[in-house]
Amino acid sequence: MALSDLNPVERNEEGIAAVLGILKQGLGERFQTGQAIRTQHAHTTTYIPTQAPDGVAFPETTAEVQEIVSACAAHRVPVIAFGVGSSLEGHTNAPGGGISVDTSRMNRILAVNPQDLDCTVEPGVTREDLNRHLRDTGLFFPIDPGANASLGGMAATRASGTNAVRYGTMRENVLSLTAVMADGETLTTGKRAKKSSAGYDLTRLLIGSEGTLGIITQLTLKLQGIPQAISGGVCPFSSVEAACNAVIATIQMGIPVARIELVNALQMRAMKSYSKLDYPESPCLFVEFHGSDAGVAEQAETFGTIAEEYGGGPFLWTSVAEERTKLWKARHDAYWSSLTLRPGAKGLSTDVCVPISRFAECVTQTEADIAEMGLIAPIVGHAGDGNFHVLVLMDADDPKEIEQTEEFVARLNMRAIGMDGTCTGEHGIGQGKIGFLRHELGRSVDIMRTIKQALDPQNIMNPGKILPAD
Ligand SMILES: Cc1cc2nc3c(=O)[nH]c(=O)nc-3n(C[C@H](O)[C@H](O)[C@H](O)COP(=O)(O)OP(=O)(O)OC[C@H]3O[C@@H](n4cnc5c(N)ncnc54)[C@H](O)[C@@H]3O)c2cc1C
Repeated sequence: MALSDLNPVERNEEGIAAVLGILKQGLGERFQTGQAIRTQHAHTTTYIPTQAPDGVAFPETTAEVQEIVSACAAHRVPVIAFGVGSSLEGHTNAPGGGISVDTSRMNRILAVNPQDLDCTVEPGVTREDLNRHLRDTGLFFPIDPGANASLGGMAATRASGTNAVRYGTMRENVLSLTAVMADGETLTTGKRAKKSSAGYDLTRLLIGSEGTLGIITQLTLKLQGIPQAISGGVCPFSSVEAACNAVIATIQMGIPVARIELVNALQMRAMKSYSKLDYPESPCLFVEFHGSDAGVAEQAETFGTIAEEYGGGPFLWTSVAEERTKLWKARHDAYWSSLTLRPGAKGLSTDVCVPISRFAECVTQTEADIAEMGLIAPIVGHAGDGNFHVLVLMDADDPKEIEQTEEFVARLNMRAIGMDGTCTGEHGIGQGKIGFLRHELGRSVDIMRTIKQALDPQNIMNPGKILPAD
């Protein structure tokens, strides 16, 4: 993607120089301007060009975030929140320069309330940190994007993962947020009650806002009890269509599956060699059930019968923790294993989501498109939600390959939107998907812009993201 294709943001050289001076004085060593650290904070796990910020701040408190945002507001300088930088659509780039606010030092777990099944954390706590902390309480936080992302970044991108089919996404699992808004003031969006009808839902306005409205400095999250028993396994199919149809039948029958993930044959080849899995090189479903001993055994048996009806099997399942961990580690490493299919190539990971009844159609049409275009592009999917990812492996130095990949991604997004789906089920818009937002949401984009202008009239919060320039 050429820089000129991205939403341009004008640089304010004078303002940036003023803010660099203020932050150096205020934060000392916790404000860095070295080239390497700036580049790292704009690193995009894709071929979108890096657009580095002018400095990186490491605040430790909400008050410090307020000071940073106030300085940026006074001088009209962009401010870009940063979690661990695992987002995939150029979210953390700084097209007009400005200040990256790295939340990694805001990593305290402030409260765990086991009776209420909730906790309050700072935004730099990662999902793995939180689950390690909760291990002895019998509770866990279920949202699991493949990367060990920060909870602030996960809320800001409305992330989900393999467990979403059972536990929902960040949208369903955040009770309240505190954020520093564009004027430097804080906003707290709710209390700890499990539900509320009190006015506009500002929690969900901030969830998925990708740092364009405010910087989240505290989150209150729902927790779940660790299930008494877990069973899971892998089921091969002769075609991706058969596997998708088995998913549709499983969901439509109301089997409370906790995870049901599609891995196509090419992805399976990569996982077999990278993660040393011993399964056929054919489309497979990775499945997991949570519940009582008897419940998970029964669910696994029922799923096995459905799979057989679609020509799948054998469905080999286990309750042994080490065996399951190996499978899910392989699934979470899918991105890294697929890179081995074309050494030296860059991976472009794109995601779409469609209603479950259109899932088989969308995946099979996409596989046909990949074959016709001669791309190397494995598919994995959170199939129970109708959500799948394609990782296109390409030579990022070859303009022809870039053009071809962009054409493929555009066709995929328009296909999903045409099936009443979305151009992103979980990765977000960032810079990479701006062009599809209006196709999907039409006039709603104007309402989004009205909200943005009301809350951030100077356009300093992560400018050039989500909203098209038109
Ligand atoms: C291998 C791999 C697998 C992945 N799998 C999945 C998956 O299964 N599901 C999924 O949903 N995603 C997945 N992702 C994408 C990514 O992990 C998620 O988007 C994640 O939520 C980003 O969190 P982060 O901490 O890395 O945020 P960053 O990348 O640092 O930031 C993301 C966005 O959030 C904003 N932001 C960050 N922190 C804050 C804050 N405190 N307040 C306000 N805004 C903030 C940033 O400005 C930016 O716009 C995957 C990525 C990789 C590399």
